[in-house]
Amino acid sequence: MKLPVVDSTTVDSTAENGLSGESDARQHLLDLSTEELKAWIADHGLPAFRAGQILNWVFQRRITDFHEMSDLPKKLRDELDAAFRIFVTAEQEVVESSDGTDKLLVRLPDGGEVECVLLRDGNRRSICVSSQVGCAMGCVFCASGLDGVERNLTKGEILEQMLRLQARLEEDERLSHIVMMGMGEPLANLDRVLAALSVAKDQHGLGISPRRITISTVGLPKAIDRLAETGVPYNLAVSLHAPNEELRSELVPVNKQVGMQSVLDAADRYFASNGRRLTFEYVLLGGVNDSVEHARELQQLLRHRNVLLNVIPYNPVEGLPYQTPSSRSIARFREVLEAGGVNVKFRQRKGSDIDAACGQLRRNRSK
Ligand code: SAH
Repeated sequence: MKLPVVDSTTVDSTAENGLSGESDARQHLLDLSTEELKAWIADHGLPAFRAGQILNWVFQRRITDFHEMSDLPKKLRDELDAAFRIFVTAEQEVVESSDGTDKLLVRLPDGGEVECVLLRDGNRRSICVSSQVGCAMGCVFCASGLDGVERNLTKGEILEQMLRLQARLEEDERLSHIVMMGMGEPLANLDRVLAALSVAKDQHGLGISPRRITISTVGLPKAIDRLAETGVPYNLAVSLHAPNEELRSELVPVNKQVGMQSVLDAADRYFASNGRRLTFEYVLLGGVNDSVEHARELQQLLRHRNVLLNVIPYNPVEGLPYQTPSSRSIARFREVLEAGGVNVKFRQRKGSDIDAACGQLRRNRSK
């Protein structure tokens, strides 16, 4: 079902955001660690606490022009402006859905494009952020990976999506959750994703508890172990999409190299390491993975695990042969799992009137 397009607006704001900065040699401030910023400030003969003030302006007060940072000495503001840019991307397209979902198509300095989304649900203000331009995982139903991966995003480019979405909130709205569920495979760009998230969770950064941050992965066991080793209790969501090896290898090609059991084992180790309940994602594709038999197999796989199964009815991608399942088969699928004691949630499709499923906005524009 498509949501009615009531107040969707498309704003091509390239001009006002100015892409003149493409030849700009200044460094991306958001790529620096706090230590690097402090060192730069020390080199300029000033005390380290100035770094905290700058971060406070950018992350809490949403200021992106050094000249507006009124508690910094004028000379420092000028020097910062000469050395750094705070935003390096441009909002190529802004789409607002009638259900409170905002989606941005962000253009990177090298011309690449990624999507990110703000979702409003009750008091929740969640943002969905991309980690790569394109994706190498090749999930057969997903728009993001149709042309493969171009490159990893930098730490600063990941943070900038968060800041751009935060900037869309009203005074009385607060960012509450972050999901790394945009374009790309976050665990294939783990170092930069972790660097960005460490700022997102920092009190001087966005101040979002890691318990409200979810990293979604196709399931790369070694990287899941590395994530566990950080000791930070991020939520892990594993995109399962099939209840057996054969079907999973068909839908999620990387499974052929990895194997479903080793994905499940790594997820179990992650749970053992920090006790955070795992989420498994299951995109329900009509006539492909939505039968009663599939539901039974899935129930067998999950019933002894402390997991939330997040079932997402397929959001159709033009040109791909997959379909949203009928409401009858969705209900049947649900019944089997619920009767089998699996903790299951059926995700509401949000923002489908604005192509909010990852990769679709970019794709539809480039056609
Ligand atoms: N690479 C990560 C993040 C991908 S996007 C991962 O695989 O988890 C987050 C989720 O959306 C994944 O579960 C992905 O498989 C799913 N998804 C991709 N395309 C979709 C579509 N058209 N409809 C519904 N879900 C989709």
